[in-house]
Amino acid sequence: MTFSDLGLSSALVKAVEEKGYTKPSPIQEKAIPHILEGKDILASAQTGTGKTAGFTLPVLQHLSETKHPKYRPLRALVLTPTRELAAQVHDNVREYSKYVNIKSTVIFGGVNAKPQIATLKSGVDILVATPGRLLDLHDRKALSFKRVEILILDEADRMLDMGFVRDINKIISFMPSKRQNLMFSATFSNDIKKLASGILRNPVSVETAPQNSTAKKVTHKVYKVDKNKKTEFTIKLIKDNNWTQVLVFTRTKHGANKLTEKLVKAGISAAAIHGNKSQGARTKALRNFKDNTIKILVATDIAARGLDIPLLPHVVNFELPNVPEDYIHRIGRTGRAGAAGEAISLVCSEEVEYQNEIEKLLKEKLESNIVEGFEPTDTAAPKRAATQSKGSFGKKKPASGGNRPKNKPHFKGNNTTPTSGRGRTGAPKKKRT
Ligand code: AMP
Repeated sequence: MTFSDLGLSSALVKAVEEKGYTKPSPIQEKAIPHILEGKDILASAQTGTGKTAGFTLPVLQHLSETKHPKYRPLRALVLTPTRELAAQVHDNVREYSKYVNIKSTVIFGGVNAKPQIATLKSGVDILVATPGRLLDLHDRKALSFKRVEILILDEADRMLDMGFVRDINKIISFMPSKRQNLMFSATFSNDIKKLASGILRNPVSVETAPQNSTAKKVTHKVYKVDKNKKTEFTIKLIKDNNWTQVLVFTRTKHGANKLTEKLVKAGISAAAIHGNKSQGARTKALRNFKDNTIKILVATDIAARGLDIPLLPHVVNFELPNVPEDYIHRIGRTGRAGAAGEAISLVCSEEVEYQNEIEKLLKEKLESNIVEGFEPTDTAAPKRAATQSKGSFGKKKPASGGNRPKNKPHFKGNNTTPTSGRGRTGAPKKKRT
């Protein structure tokens, strides 16, 4: 199967070939023909599957093949949850539209609105935006949604998590009711299904991986670690393994800052990326991480969403997320584009319940290990996982578990002890000798 076989024009095929893509990814193969036919789509796809080209290419084809009024009204809108994702999607739109006569731009908050207003006023065919700033500019009459023909909701699940549902509905209320709608989501909670049923008309479902599953080539590993020794353990992991590019997740912005400071003090180049950082600082941190100026990027869930970091070999969960679906989003940063990746989670006693919920969602047991000197000694009561996501993993199926091959230990010497990670009570684990 080639891009031309999918019905894409030679101008678009030329642009993707220049990007080095030799054949369509599975999501592109499945989604592009339906989108070209004008159908609504509900696609289950994580970042890293090529979903951006999956929707951008057919949308560009539609826009470039149909006539537009001279003043170039907005005809396609891509909504994304984060500024970083908006910027990345727009980068792709620009690259793919190199050989077609289409104008695009990106709009997000945290930066001066004036240049954005000026660009919008000059006419734009396709716009990539985060909901808040977009509504703000709409209120200021910088743009109109009256001629929108195609609406794309990218990472819809995260937009719901971030509380954008009202903004989305408001934006839609300004659009013509006759339009094409494309919704992409990595996970499918009941809330997502509800949102989809309110927006999509007779959608074609496009799935490239089983729902709520993680990329196949990712190996998961849990280290049961004492809460107070997590920083020291992270430093050890990075140094012992000579890791050069690691994305580390913390649950809070404060935690991200604290860990970053300690890594830097330990001589490991690192930067934090989270919502309290200015847009400039976020962009710089991501750029430095991508070009290997810094080794470690410490991120919160929201800031990390949609970051396009190709072939990231390791993701470390310094803390487990309290919403199990976030685990899937986090590890979507590794094992990308068919490459192998490793997701490592540091789990202290009070996070055992989070691990249980993640295992239920994955229907898989995570291999657990204990390293001498870092055993959990804290006996805090396990925290309950967030109730918010209950709907999507409400079926209490037992985890199938136990079939994951054992990995090489991460440390020099053989001081790791695999444990069975399932059904722990939160009691401190003793290392078996
Ligand atoms: P996405 O899931 O859209 O974030 O894409 C993930 C990465 O895959 C991006 O770096 C894309 O440039 C790349 N990509 C998209 N489509 C293809 C393809 N058909 N072949 C190879 N790489 C691709």
